[in-house]
Amino acid sequence: CSKEGASTAKVLKVGTDAGFAPFEFQDEKSKEYVGFDMDLIKALGKQMGYEVQIQNMNFDGLIPGLEVNSIDAVASGMTITEARKQKVNFTKPYYQAGLTIVVKNDNNAIKNFKDLEGKKIAVQIGTTGAAEAKKIKDAQVREFNNAPEAFMELKAGGVDAVVNDKPVNEYYIAQSGSKDAKAVGEPLQAEEYGIAVAKKNTELAGKLDKALDELKKNGEYEKIYVKWFGK
Ligand code: GLN
Repeated sequence: CSKEGASTAKVLKVGTDAGFAPFEFQDEKSKEYVGFDMDLIKALGKQMGYEVQIQNMNFDGLIPGLEVNSIDAVASGMTITEARKQKVNFTKPYYQAGLTIVVKNDNNAIKNFKDLEGKKIAVQIGTTGAAEAKKIKDAQVREFNNAPEAFMELKAGGVDAVVNDKPVNEYYIAQSGSKDAKAVGEPLQAEEYGIAVAKKNTELAGKLDKALDELKKNGEYEKIYVKWFGK
């Protein structure tokens, strides 16, 4: 018994950690959550007939949010890993990334991951960057709630380096960081981002995969990619 004029669109509640430009961040003026992931999930929702509602939360709260059903999907630059696959379902990969290192401009001692031995490293809690940094011999790893806080700590001189996703490091440096920071090191390993849904929600994962295929075919994915990353 739907009311006349009422929207019939189903709602897709999407969790994100909006401190990860250019994938998800808050636009200063409009206060909206914008970025590659935000455009992509909205386009996927539209394709599937869902209205997308974004919930901003800490990165380490996203998988628990799926587990208790407070959100339906995660679009947050989340790398598909074996450990996470034990807890959630991922769509097909939608973006290729990897980890690099950010150091101060005048730091010529750190050029690759081997040089991080015994160093102070800032990372974001619950990320692949945090997991990799903890494997580095004698490194002191300090965990922050989000990537911007880790970059701030580097700027303040509290750490020697940040280990974080390459496209986010590059965006940070291009936007504001180049006065004092630079990215170094070949990407540690290839990582692929996927949209995560609850373990039991295989139906939604299938729908998202199908919609992703359609957006790749009709040029919409390409348009969103070019908007945020250039060619
Ligand atoms: N890709 C990294 C991970 O999945 C970082 C994601 C993020 O900080 N939003 O752990």
